[in-house]
Amino acid sequence: MATTPRTAIVTGAARGIGAATAKRLAADGHAVAVLDLDEAACAETVDAITAAGGKAIAVGVDVSKADQVAAAVTRVADELGAPTILINNAGITRDNLIFKMTEEDWDSVMGVHLRGAFLMTKAAQAYMTQEKFGRIVNLSSTSALGNRGQVNYSAAKAGIQGFTKTLAIELGRFGVTANAIAPGFIQTEMTKATAERIGVPFDDFIAFSAKEIPVQRVGQPEDIAATVSFLTSDEAGFVSGQVIYVAGGPKD
Ligand code: NAP
Repeated sequence: MATTPRTAIVTGAARGIGAATAKRLAADGHAVAVLDLDEAACAETVDAITAAGGKAIAVGVDVSKADQVAAAVTRVADELGAPTILINNAGITRDNLIFKMTEEDWDSVMGVHLRGAFLMTKAAQAYMTQEKFGRIVNLSSTSALGNRGQVNYSAAKAGIQGFTKTLAIELGRFGVTANAIAPGFIQTEMTKATAERIGVPFDDFIAFSAKEIPVQRVGQPEDIAATVSFLTSDEAGFVSGQVIYVAGGPKD
């Protein structure tokens, strides 16, 4: 699938889905800014991209902090060119049943997922509208449909869907599309932490979960990266405001 080389930003790209997505976008020919909380932690992803002949830089940023986001996006534009692809992937979980959930658990999840996606998109869309081209992909989740122990996370991931649809409506006239991907179970540190929290060995958690998924396996970060690759391509210009469940079935 040929696509025009551009500058892409992937948040939370030091590991997991973000790292796989950064590598895939680099393989598609884009220069990639690998953003994560800890700049040093981005080195593995950047090195893998450059070793494969691609172009990437590491940028440390907390996506929930406006001043850090502004500085990071300006740096990307200066070093790699106007960012016209943005993948809002950074995420955290702070799971608990509502009667035990603290205000901090609520605020930190809203801060990274919703405030983070808002700040990153606001900064990047300035370049996209100027370039008359943009591709925004936001990471939602099947948890948006409801998931025990995740009132904060499911509310944020449902919020991401409304955010995405409104971006599509506002920015479409500038050649910018916005879509959300809602992954089911993907094998990463995030799902490993969930297994630890509920006291189940990760391998057992994977095997049990796979049985409940129509395609009979859990997802890998590359499954999400492949969907991002399509949604950011030149050919996907008529797909906007959609939520694509990448979950091995209609949902998880
Ligand atoms: P992950 O392995 O935990 O990676 C998330 C990355 O985001 C980490 O490197 C983390 O850095 C970074 N991050 C956290 N807070 C940040 C902040 N404020 N600013 C910048 N970076 C930050 O997670 P994942 O499984 O790859 O998930 C990626 C996305 O997919 C998330 O939005 C998640 O909610 C969503 N998702 C995942 C699944 C799944 O099954 N794994 C399912 C549905 C949706 P630190 O390591 O320093 O915290």
